[in-house]
Amino acid sequence: MKKPDFHHALKIDRDVCIGCTHCMNICPTEAIRVRNGKAVLIDNRCVDCGFCYRVCPVNAIIVEQDDFNRIFEYKVRVALMPAVLTGQFPENVSLRQIHSELLALGFTHICEVEHGVGLLYGVMMEYMEKHKGTRPLISAFCPAIVRLIQVRFPALVENLIHLKPPLDISALGFREQLIEEGYDGNDIGIFYITPCAAKIAAVKSPVGQEDSPITGVINMNFLFNKAYTRVRQEKGDSCIVPEIRQLTPRSLLWSLTGGESDHAPGRSLAIDEIHNVINFLEQLENEEMMDIDFLELRACDESCAGGVLTTANRFFTVERLRKLAEQLVDDVTHGETGDFLKKQMTISPIEPRSMLKLDEDMSEAMKKLKRVEEITKCLPDVDCAACGSPNCQAFAEDIVQGYAKINQCVFVQRIFENRGILSCEESLRIMKEVWGGDKLDKNC
Ligand code: SF4
Ligand code: SF4
Ligand code: SF4
Repeated sequence: MKKPDFHHALKIDRDVCIGCTHCMNICPTEAIRVRNGKAVLIDNRCVDCGFCYRVCPVNAIIVEQDDFNRIFEYKVRVALMPAVLTGQFPENVSLRQIHSELLALGFTHICEVEHGVGLLYGVMMEYMEKHKGTRPLISAFCPAIVRLIQVRFPALVENLIHLKPPLDISALGFREQLIEEGYDGNDIGIFYITPCAAKIAAVKSPVGQEDSPITGVINMNFLFNKAYTRVRQEKGDSCIVPEIRQLTPRSLLWSLTGGESDHAPGRSLAIDEIHNVINFLEQLENEEMMDIDFLELRACDESCAGGVLTTANRFFTVERLRKLAEQLVDDVTHGETGDFLKKQMTISPIEPRSMLKLDEDMSEAMKKLKRVEEITKCLPDVDCAACGSPNCQAFAEDIVQGYAKINQCVFVQRIFENRGILSCEESLRIMKEVWGGDKLDKNC
C-alpha cells in the first residue's frame, strides 16, 4: 500500500503571497517554486523547518494549529508544556505562575515535556551500547532533522536512534498515570504547546509510529500571548497551584543546543541551524569524518529556543533556562510508569523518502539524470531564480520532471530570440506565466 504523504503544518495563502521569492531563496531543501507570481510548495521536499514562515514579509505562510477551544471537548485537559515556554516569560514570572495561568485558561493538568528525558536517557545509553557497529548514531529528537535525513540523506536513516522523543514518552506516561488515578481514557485530551511547525507535522503524521499519543497542538506564540496578557493584567503573583515535581538540570536543558550531546558517551557533537546541519551531513556522506559516536542535530539556531513559533529572543530563553537549571538538583525516580514506558520506547524503522529520486524505475531514473546533466550544461549557472526555481540545478530537474520548460530561463530566451526561435512577445508571455502579470505590466 502506498504510504500516506507527509503532513505539512505550513500552508501558503495564495491571496496574500506577492511572489517575492524570499521563501524560495532560504528553503534548505529547495521545496518552493514560483508559478503565476505565487509561491508553490513541493510537498515531498518540505521538512517543515519553518524557515520560509520566518522570512515571509507579508505573512502569507500560515502555520496551522488546532482550535484552542478543542481542549474543552475533554473533561481532562492536559497542557503538555515544553521548557522553552518557561523561557518565553521574563525572569520575574515564576514557573508556578505560568502553570497557574495555563490552568486559568482552561487546562486541568500540566505535564512538563522534559519529564520524559530521565527515562529516555537510560534507554538511549543502552541503545548506544547495543548498536556499537553503527556510528555516528543520530538523535531523532528534532522532527525536521528526521525528515531532512529521510528526504535528503536517505543513506543515513539507519543512523537515527529509533527511540521516541521525550514529548511522546511524557504524553504516554501522563495518560497512563491519569488512567491509574481512575480517569477514563476517552475523557483525556493531551495538547502540546509547540515551538515549531515540525512538531505539529510529527504529531499529525508521526514517523516510525502508527499514532501519536498527543490529541492536539497549540502554537506557542498564541498561547504565550494569551497567558502573558493575563500575567500583566494581574500585576502580581496570583498562583493557584502548588509547585509540581521539578525537572532535573539535564531534563530542563535537553531541548537546547548541547542538551543531548553533553551527556552522550564517546565523541559527540551538537550542530544547530538546518543549513549548518546540511553542510555537516554532506561532509559525513562523503566520509570525510568517521570517528564520531553521537550527533545531536537541530533545525533551529539555539535549538528549540529558536523555534519559529517562539516569541522571546532565543538567547534570553537559553539564559533563563540555564539559570533555572543551576537551582535544580539531579534526582529522578521512574517507578511503575517508567517500567510501562520502557516497553513502548522504540519506534519502527524509519524509511528513506528520497526527494532526489527522479523515477521509481532505476533505468528511467538514470536516463533522467543524464538529461538533467545535459540541460544543466546549457544553463548559465548563475542561480538567478528568474525561472521561478531556486537555482539552475533545481530548474534542470524541474524540466526533466515536467514541472518547467527550458524557455522559462531568461538566458535561454535571449539565445532563442537571437536565433529567431522565440519572439519577444512569446518570451513575455512565458515570464508572465512564472511571475504573473503584475510584475511585467508596469508603466516604467
Ligand atoms: S518549511 Fe522549510 S523545508 Fe518546508 S518549504 Fe519552508 S523552508 Fe522549505
Ligand atoms: S516569502 Fe514566499 S510566501 Fe511570502 S510573499 Fe514572498 S513568495 Fe510569497
Ligand atoms: S530544533 Fe526544536 S523547535 Fe526547531 S524544528 Fe527542531 S524540534 Fe522544532
